[in-house]
Amino acid sequence: MENKKYIENIMRRLMRKYGDKLHTELEHANLTELFVAVLLSPQCTDKQVNKVTEQLFTRFKTFDDYADCNIKTLRKQLDGLNYYRTKAKNLKRSALMIVKDYNGEVPGRMNELMKLPGVGRKVANVILNEGFGIDEGIAVDTHCATVSRRLGLSDKKDANKVEQDLLTMLPKKYWKVSSNLFIALGRDACTARNRKCEKCVLNDICPSSTVKKNHAASILSSE
Ligand code: SF4
Repeated sequence: MENKKYIENIMRRLMRKYGDKLHTELEHANLTELFVAVLLSPQCTDKQVNKVTEQLFTRFKTFDDYADCNIKTLRKQLDGLNYYRTKAKNLKRSALMIVKDYNGEVPGRMNELMKLPGVGRKVANVILNEGFGIDEGIAVDTHCATVSRRLGLSDKKDANKVEQDLLTMLPKKYWKVSSNLFIALGRDACTARNRKCEKCVLNDICPSSTVKKNHAASILSSE
């Protein structure tokens, strides 16, 4: 009961503060562009990815374009990103599979997405959530994992294990929004290196808060 109230309190406050940030900041105009942008996003900021895809999407429109391209050309297009060589290889190989096995359309199931090179659970969750409106899991990136640990919702390091803890702790109605809300909080206040608890909307209930408050009393207080 106490946990339930704590989680409701967290989600209510985050919705109020970051309710306008419930979607990815990766720019895309369709499912193909969403897939490509999310595949390119690991170890990069959304800003870096958006800068690269702005050019990329004027040249590459379909998965046939990626499948048929010269890998050196694709590498050159992606060279503003970390791990661009691996990402170019994965993008071309994924495109070949999507053209061959899914008629050139992004598949809409977790098990199908996870067969594509470069697609792990986090990437698949973002595509399912943003592209298909499916909340099968929770996309856990470094921000989401850091916030989850500081809020005491997980004690794991591995993102997939953090996701499993969140799926257990959070009611299903929050699966779809929790990732983007936690990412927004992570970017705004709960950064890995320099958290700014004094400006955080959870600073009176978070067990890791550096702002001294009566934690137990706050958890039980209603707003
Ligand atoms: S109070 Fe501090 S540690 Fe807790 S979620 Fe907010 S910024 Fe992170």
